[in-house]
Amino acid sequence: MEVRLSRSEIVERIKKLIVDVPNFPSEGIIFKDITPVLQNGIAFQDIVNLFSSTIPKETTQLLAIESRGFIFASAIAHHLGIGITLVRKPGKLPRPTISHTYALEYGEDTLQIHKDSISKKDKVIVIDDVLATGGTAQATEVLCEKLGAHLLGHRFLIEIDSLKGRDKLSATVDSFIHC
Ligand code: AMP
Repeated sequence: MEVRLSRSEIVERIKKLIVDVPNFPSEGIIFKDITPVLQNGIAFQDIVNLFSSTIPKETTQLLAIESRGFIFASAIAHHLGIGITLVRKPGKLPRPTISHTYALEYGEDTLQIHKDSISKKDKVIVIDDVLATGGTAQATEVLCEKLGAHLLGHRFLIEIDSLKGRDKLSATVDSFIHC
């Protein structure tokens, strides 16, 4: 696949579009707003091309994490002609699911996936916008394991290095922007 610019050139352009929003959604959080990347047609195309160039050929499904993971995974899936499997918040998927509940700094959260969506025949890559504490991505690893699928790795647009999310993950991690 054709990538017009080098990885570092694309990353430098994308970095400039991401807006840090302090104290959103709660005090002390610096929210990484990626919506300006989506609004810029060339930047969005470049980042989707870059994501796509890192997806191994043997990948059978992209695991898209709700909700911004859906946006990137859909575009990459369209580009590569492979499917996406949705990993969703509770109560959104209509057929039988399996769940994994994980701890947050305050409280807990749950992710679900359709029981019959992936199996041991699948080789999957997880896609999301931000790797922060790693709880969400780790929960996705557990769901993958429960269904017997082979997890090839994770791809993130942004990784917040100080939160050490990658230390929680067993599969390889590739993040384009580190902050
Ligand atoms: P975590 O489980 O802590 O790694 O959080 C990852 C999930 O929460 C991803 O789906 C992100 O979309 C979202 N998220 C966490 N921290 C941020 C942040 N600082 N800015 C934007 N999104 C975030």
